[in-house]
Amino acid sequence: MVKSLYELTRTELAESLAGEPRFRVDQLWRGLWKEDRYPSEVTTLPRALRERLASDYPSTLTPINEVVSDGGATTKWVFALGDGATIETVLMAYEDRVTVCVSSQAGCAMGCSFCATGQAGFTRQLSVSEVIEQVVVAARAGAPRRLSNVVFMGMGEPLANYDVTVGVLRRLHEERGMSARHLTVSTVGVAPAIERLAREGLPLTLAVSLHAANDESRNELAPINRRYNLERLARACETWIEVTGRRLSFEWALIDGVNDTPRALDELAAYARPLDAHVNLIPLNPTPGYLVRGSTPERVRDFRDGLLALGVNATVRNTRGRSIDAACGQLANVTRGKQGLRRDGSVTKVAVRAKPPTR
Ligand code: SAH
Ligand code: SF4
Repeated sequence: MVKSLYELTRTELAESLAGEPRFRVDQLWRGLWKEDRYPSEVTTLPRALRERLASDYPSTLTPINEVVSDGGATTKWVFALGDGATIETVLMAYEDRVTVCVSSQAGCAMGCSFCATGQAGFTRQLSVSEVIEQVVVAARAGAPRRLSNVVFMGMGEPLANYDVTVGVLRRLHEERGMSARHLTVSTVGVAPAIERLAREGLPLTLAVSLHAANDESRNELAPINRRYNLERLARACETWIEVTGRRLSFEWALIDGVNDTPRALDELAAYARPLDAHVNLIPLNPTPGYLVRGSTPERVRDFRDGLLALGVNATVRNTRGRSIDAACGQLANVTRGKQGLRRDGSVTKVAVRAKPPTR
C-alpha cells in the first residue's frame, strides 16, 4: 500500500527525518497539518529534502475525475487509490460553513437496499491517510474559505472501520485543529461501536441512519438491524447521550409509500422522543438498484410538520450534488482492481448545470 506522510505520527515523522535538524520536523508538520501543503510545497525545507519526501511518500489519492455543480458550490471527486480501488469525496460550500463528505471504505458491506454504495458491495477498508488526504484535497479546493466541517457520509460504514475512523477524528481535532463538534460520524447503527465511540472522549456529532422504526421494515432497508435491532440500537443511543452529554440525530431518507406513511410517522416519533433526538429528513435520492421513488416535496413537508406536531425536532436536508450523483447514497463509483483506470493523474473537469448555491 502507498504510504503517505499523513499516515505518520509526529514521532514517526521525526524518525523519517533522522539526521536533519529538529526544526525541520516542525516545519514539515506545520506545512502538512496547518497549511495543507504537499511535501513538495513546504518551501521552508531544502529542495533535496522536499524531493526525497515527495518520492518516498507519494499521495495515496490520484484524482481521476472532478465534477463541479450547484454554481461552483459542490465538487465531487473520484479518486483512485494505490491498488486501483476507487472512492468518492464531495465538497459542499454553504453560506456559513464549508463541509467535506468523506469516504471511510471503498464500497460498503452493509447492504442497505436503497444505497448505491451498498448495492455495489465492499472492496476494502481505507487507511488513515486515505481519509485525511480527502480532507486535504477538499480544503485546498475550498480555499480561501476555511474548511469547517467533516462528515463521514460518503462511501462506507465508518464504524466498521473503527480504528481508522477514530484515528482520523483525533488527528483532525488535535493536529488540524478542527472543532470536534464539527466532525460528524454517520452510522447505520453498529450498536457496540457507538458505545465504544461514546467513550473516546471526543465531543463529536453523531448521526444514526434510522430510516425505519419498526424491526420488520428496518430489517429490509438496513440489514444490520437483524444483528442489532431497534431496541439494542436505542440502548446504544442512550449510552451515547449519557456518556457524551450530547444529543444525536436520526437520518431518515423518505421513500414513497415505504416510510412516509402515518404509521411510520408515529413509530418514528415514538422512537425519537424519549431519546430527544433530532430528525434529519432527506428525500430519497434515486439509485439504479432500488426501484422506489423518493417522497414528493409536499409529502416531505407534511412529514416534517407531523413530527413537529408530535414534539420531535425535525429538519429537511437540502440535497446537494444530485445532478452529478454526489448526493447522499449516490456514491457508487467503485472499481475493483487496476483495469480501466487512468493512472496518469490526469483530471477531467466538467461543469454541470450552473445553479445558484442554496442552503
Ligand atoms: N454508512 C453510513 C454513512 C454513509 S451513508 C450510514 O449509513 O450512515 C450516508 C447517508 O446517506 C446515510 O444516512 C444513508 O442512509 C444515506 N443514504 C444512503 N442512500 C441514500 C439514498 N439513496 N438517498 C438518500 N440518502 C441515502
Ligand atoms: Fe453502507 Fe451507509 Fe450505504 Fe448502508 S447506507 S450500504 S451503511 S454506506
